[in-house]
Formats: sequence, structure tokens, C-alpha cells
Amino acid sequence: VCLPQSSKRCAVIGGSGFLGRHLVEKLLDRGYSVSVFDIRQSYELPGVTFLQGDLCDKQALLSALKDISLVFHCASPPPASDDRLLFERVNIQGTQTIIQACIDAGVQKLVLTSSASVVFEGTDIKNGKEDLPYAKKPIDYYTQTKIEQEKLVLEACDKQKGFLTVAIRPHGIFGPRDPQLVPTLVDAARQGKMKFIIGDGTNLVDFTYVENVVHGHILAAEHLRADSPICGKPYHITNDEPIRF
Ligand code: NAD
Repeated sequence: VCLPQSSKRCAVIGGSGFLGRHLVEKLLDRGYSVSVFDIRQSYELPGVTFLQGDLCDKQALLSALKDISLVFHCASPPPASDDRLLFERVNIQGTQTIIQACIDAGVQKLVLTSSASVVFEGTDIKNGKEDLPYAKKPIDYYTQTKIEQEKLVLEACDKQKGFLTVAIRPHGIFGPRDPQLVPTLVDAARQGKMKFIIGDGTNLVDFTYVENVVHGHILAAEHLRADSPICGKPYHITNDEPIRF
């Protein structure tokens, strides 16, 4: 895809995280100029500008989003936390702040990393499509606030104002530098906690390789135009078949 130079200036909010860093690396490969906005800096990379700040701080966001046309929002508190107020502050109020800062700064596109758990009601989903309703009883505060966050971002899509949004819904992400999924499973196995089966052993779970998740984000960003049917829509991202777990 050949894009005009100005549309290749992007910011990755949460770019110091597992998914965010993979996204940053791929964006650089594809000729984007990339700024990372995160509460921490976890690595150095030539050509990447790092700005440390909290996404709930609109002033900090506004300076980070100056001259940026495309924003990826893949920041979140750790899902394992049970801190309701933190999830509400970062995922709901923080996302409202990001939307407002994007509009004020003249950003044209916002790509949100949502989660497939927004449609999970506690029972297996096979071949689930994006027309599934949001979970009425989300499994935890993380998911509850991911639902609210996704609604905010998709409802903010406004073709007249030239502000376009889309959401990507992966489930468990694995790949190099995964800090969470595989290490947690290996730890549990070492402690002998994998000897039990919940259910009859046919429960399904979906894992996606991190590069596929990144690819989904970039495809969404590059296809997000006012005449595109993807405006304001969520998309599930998966490898192929779910795995029996
Ligand atoms: P991660 O914890 O590795 O990265 C999240 C990043 O967000 C971190 O660098 C953190 O410092 C940053 N962050 C947190 N609070 C912030 C704040 N207030 N201001 C600025 N930055 C802040 O997580 P990840 O696995 O890379 O997940 C990225 C996104 O993907 C999240 O939105 C998550 O909900 C979603 N997701 C992840 C998975 C998975 O399996 N990892 C599955 C589905 C969805």
C-alpha cells in the first residue's frame, strides 16, 4: 500500500507492552514513523520517540498526538488485577480522554485493541461472528470495562468530522516475549496445578499468534476510510480453529 507521508505518522498508546512493541516493530518495517505513549518505557528502538505519561492525562496526550494522523490504543491495566476503580479509570475514563484528545489534535483514525471476551457469556462459542451481542454478565471488571471502552470508541466514529474508528478483538495472544499467557501456564504446570480438568475436557479456547494480531491492526488502519464498511465496527482476530483446552 502506498500512503501519503502524513498518514504514516502514528502513535501507539501502550506501545511499551507485549502487543504494543510487536505493533511498533511492524509499523517501522512498513515505513511508518512511530511515537510510543506509555506510563513506562521498556525498551529503546532507533526511530521511535518515547513519551512517558498516563493516558488519563489529556494535556500529556495532546502533546504526544501533535501532527499524528493515526492512533493505536493498546494500553490496559493487567487483566489479572481485580482493581475495579483502576479498570474504570484507565479503560473507561482514559478512553474517553483519548477520544477527546484525538479529536482536539486532529487525529483521523483510532484503532482500538479490544478483546474477544466482550461477547463471552461463559459458554463455548464456535465460529462466533461480530454480530454476537455484548456479554450481559461480563466475567470480570476487566471485561466489563473492555465492553464500555469498545462502545465508546465505535460510537465516536464520525465520517462527517473525519474521525474514523475500528476495534480489533483478539483472545489469548502468544508469541515471542509473551509475559503472561505461556509463562503462567508453564508455572501452573510446574506447580502441579494442571492435573485437573474443568468440565469434560472439551472446553474451547482461542489463541492467536501475536503477528496475526498485529497484522489485523495494520490492515484495519490501512482500510479505514470514510467510504469503507469497516468504520465503527469490531473485528474478531483468530488464527483458525479454537483449541480444546
Ligand atoms: P501489556 O500489559 O503487555 O501492555 C499494556 C501496556 O499498557 C503496558 O506497557 C502498560 O504500561 C500500558 N499502560 C497501562 N496503563 C496505562 C496508562 N494509564 N497510561 C499509559 N499506558 C498504560 O498487555 P498486552 O498483552 O500487550 O495487551 C495489549 C492490549 O491487548 C490490551 O488492550 C489488552 O486488553 C488487549 N488484549 C490482550 C490479550 C492478551 O492475551 N495479551 C488478549 C486480548 C486483548
